Amino acid sequence: MEHDASERKMRFLFQLRSRGVTDPRVLAAMERIDRGAFVRGQFADRAYDDMPLPIPCGQTISQPSVVGLMTQALETGPRDTVLEVGTGSGYQAAVLSGLVRRVYTVDRHRRLVTEAQALFDELGLTNITAQVADGSRGLPDQAPFDRILVTAAAEDPPGPLLAQLKIGGIMVVPVGQSDAVQTLIRVRRGENGFDYDELRQVRFVPLVEGLGQT
Ligand code: SAH
Repeated sequence: MEHDASERKMRFLFQLRSRGVTDPRVLAAMERIDRGAFVRGQFADRAYDDMPLPIPCGQTISQPSVVGLMTQALETGPRDTVLEVGTGSGYQAAVLSGLVRRVYTVDRHRRLVTEAQALFDELGLTNITAQVADGSRGLPDQAPFDRILVTAAAEDPPGPLLAQLKIGGIMVVPVGQSDAVQTLIRVRRGENGFDYDELRQVRFVPLVEGLGQT
């Protein structure tokens, strides 16, 4: 059993590296968080495979290599305050919690927020706050943020999120139509405006305005 778990972890990390997750701090953060804790029910046995999986409320937990690449693209520092839009299972927030000072994560589905917060408490991840909110408006009470990570696809980087990014801050967001392949964009806010670069093609569930029914 012990042997299986460490072999599984080695395979998981190898897969991440072979798909471009090379930042040692990101790999260490992902080594510490067991993705198996965030996948329940009939898909639990696929938790260590590099694929997205269904979670409640018709949403998905992202593919581990995409979580790694997005985290890497965010270039976090240990004193950063980060906003994540799209808590989902809580896995991405948990990975971020090991790299930064404070993580705020919001989702439009109450059930997802409640379940993720329970997991954070159970795992002792005390620097994450999960909240029900429409993340397309950001989180004005806690703004501005050093880093913003959006884990649902928007047609354009939402204006309120750009406004809540500190100067020197970075936002990573998948942009494009929800039923098509989207482009992962990195936005850097400088003294005089925003710089955009395109990172890779991705596929995310859509960013939907307003709160969910559950
Ligand atoms: N980061 C998650 C996966 C996110 S799936 C993980 O690690 O598991 C995308 C999530 O974005 C879904 O849970 C969906 O409910 C949420 N979402 C979509 N539109 C939103 C909005 N406007 N505000 C907040 N959350 C939103």
